[in-house]
Formats: sequence, C-alpha cells, structure tokens
Amino acid sequence: MIIVPLGVGSATPTATRHLSSVAVWREGSVYLFDCGENAQMRMLQGGLKRSQIDCIFISHFDTDHYSGLIGLLSTLQLQRRDRELTIVGPEGIKKFVEWNFDFANIDISYPLNFVEVEEGFEEERVVDEDEFYIEARPLNHTKFCIGYRFQEKDKPGKVDAEKAQEQGISEDWQYKELKAGNDVELDDGTVVKSADIVGHPRPGDSFAYITDTKYCPNSVKLGMNTNVLFHEATFSESLSEKAEETGHSTAKDAARVANEAKTKLLVITHFSARYTNEYVLLREARDDFFPTWVATELRPIFTDPAHEKGIIQPKVYLKEINQNNSKGNNNNSGGSSSSDKKKRSRKKKKRFRKRKNYSGKDKKSREKYSKSNDGDSGNKRKRRTKSRNKKDKNKNDNNGGNNGGQRQPKQITPRTPFDDFDRF
Ligand SMILES: [Zn+2]
Repeated sequence: MIIVPLGVGSATPTATRHLSSVAVWREGSVYLFDCGENAQMRMLQGGLKRSQIDCIFISHFDTDHYSGLIGLLSTLQLQRRDRELTIVGPEGIKKFVEWNFDFANIDISYPLNFVEVEEGFEEERVVDEDEFYIEARPLNHTKFCIGYRFQEKDKPGKVDAEKAQEQGISEDWQYKELKAGNDVELDDGTVVKSADIVGHPRPGDSFAYITDTKYCPNSVKLGMNTNVLFHEATFSESLSEKAEETGHSTAKDAARVANEAKTKLLVITHFSARYTNEYVLLREARDDFFPTWVATELRPIFTDPAHEKGIIQPKVYLKEINQNNSKGNNNNSGGSSSSDKKKRSRKKKKRFRKRKNYSGKDKKSREKYSKSNDGDSGNKRKRRTKSRNKKDKNKNDNNGGNNGGQRQPKQITPRTPFDDFDRF
C-alpha cells in the first residue's frame, strides 16, 4: 500500500498547500480519499495515473473536500474511460454529480456506481472485495462527516513447497486447496493437512482516513491497529477552543487518537493556512505520540518499503518555498508583505565584489595568514590546502562520477530534523 498525500491544506489553499486529497495505491489500483480542487493535477505530478482510480471516497460536503470531483470525472470522460467507477460519500453525492453533468449537457460514458451513506448510520462496509474492504463510520464535525478505514484482508500463509512435495503433493489444485485451508486426500488415502504445509496467515495492511472531526471514539475504532493513521491536525493546542468550535482536531487530539488506537504510524494533515510551518504541529503531536509524520504533498508513504520503493515517484521537483523564504525572513509571514518585498529588492541592488576562489576556511583565518610573516606557517597552509583539494577531488569522483563531476541532484523533499527514521 502506498499513500500519496495530494493536498494537505484546510479550507483555503496556499502557495504551498492544496486542498484535501490523498491517493492510496494498491496493486495497480488507486483509491482516492477526498477530492479537493487540483487533486487530478496533483495525481499527475505525484506519478499516479487518473485512469487507475477505482473508487473515490468523499468525507463530507465542505467544498475543500469535493471541489475537484466534477473536474476529475470530466477528465475521465474525455479519456474515454469505460471501466466502472465507484463513488462513496454522504447522501446527496449522486444528485450532486448528476446535476452537474445534466447542467453541462454531458452523458457520462462510463458506469458510475454510487454508494451513499445516510446520516445516522453507525458503521458500514461501503466496499467489500476479495482482498480488502473499506469500512465507514460517522465522525464528529459541524456537519455530517464520514471517516474511512481501508483494510486488506489477511493474506494466506506461505506454502512450504518442499514439505508438500515430500508428503506427495504435486498437482496445482492440491496446492490451491491447501492454501485455502482445506486438507487434501491423496490417492493412497493419506491425508495431507493444510496446517502442516501452510504457515500462519499474514495480517493485511490498513489505512485510516480521518478528517474533519473533533476527537471522537469512532476515530479510534477506525484507526485501531492501523499501519497508517491519516488524521487531521488543523490547529495547535493554543487554538483548542477554535478547534472545538469549528469541529476540528488539534495536533494533540490526533496524537490521542493514535495512542488509543495503537496505530503504527500517525500522519497529520489538513493544516490551517495560519501555520506556514507545520512542524509546530508535528512537535506537539510527537510529544504525545512519537511515530508521527507530517503529510508532505506528493511524498509517498510506504507500508512495505522493501517492495514498494520506486513504484511511484513524483514527476515534479519539489521545493519547499517556506524554507527559502525563511533565510531572509524568519517571521513566517510567507514573505508577502510589501516591506519584505522592499527589503528583498534592496538586497538585489547591492553589488558585492565577486568572491575570489579561495580555498581557505573563512575570513579570519585568511587575515591571520596574510598578517603572518612566518614562512613555516605559510608552507603549512600550502600543504593543508593541497591535501584539502585532493580530498575534494576524491569526493567529486565518488559522488559525481556518472555526472561528469557535477553535483548529484538533491533529494526531492527536504528531510526535516524531526524525520529521523526511515520510511515506514
Ligand atoms: Zn476541511
């Protein structure tokens, strides 16, 4: 299972954050949870194909969660999709989609399978396939809102082929029976027990999508023992009253759910536009639940990195604008005020003397050496710079051997100091 956040903003998009949407890739199919504006473009940028979408799940009817739906469905129509598409959401989703296409006088050419969930429901399996199911439960927001859990069913245990052959198993159907948990009787009457040949079933991966909501017991139920709990953290603890009022969670609420649900990894998302630095929220969540990550748009999260790494790679170079701005502007205002602009333009006008290609450490050491008349220290300096040049040369050879001495491209997404363990 690969989870690709497509939009991690709440309510209003910002220069760096798009509206809520996350894609889950599993065995070549994509399941889209919420479809904020721009979700379809973000999919392309994230290296996912829109034609791979099997199901779309809408949490609730706040526009930041479904404003990209009609655009995406139109694209699929233009791509001449003929495969069925399932759309799950609160009651009214069918009316909304059909009204839009009636209004535009468009006949959708592919079958749409609507699964509508009525307000007041307690729990429902909205999708049930051979290998996985999706469970829905109501959350606690200012309006009817649904949380989802994507659960892979247990995978059959591994077959001990050597042992099976020793016991006389040779036909394909016999292996199938054993895998299905049935004992097989051979021609000579001996019975080969499935339990002797097939190992314990392996638990399937799971992912919970919980937004928008205050803390509620259903969030814990949906997130119980999940591999990845994707939970909103709109506000920090200092705005807990606002969170309560608007039906949202704080970073601490998200951590509380993660703790009670015993999830393996909490990923926080749906950040209020007031936080230009979402790591404030990450720090708060990590105080209570350490395995927490911040959802970063287009950066995939793997449940099985050994097998999944490289399957989905972003098609765009990702750069965190905030980080660049913060160099000259630490007040996190996003660099949009006019005084900041003036400062920057003044900075640009300043002309500096071109720096000499000097291999010394810094200005101080340069001065020290230039003042010194001691011949010995001068020699030492020469020797030092020589060896340093050698080292640098070796470095270049090791790193950029294939690039003709050029620097290697930087990592796509800058790692934060908090992100000190490998992908999950
Ligand atoms: Zn929202």
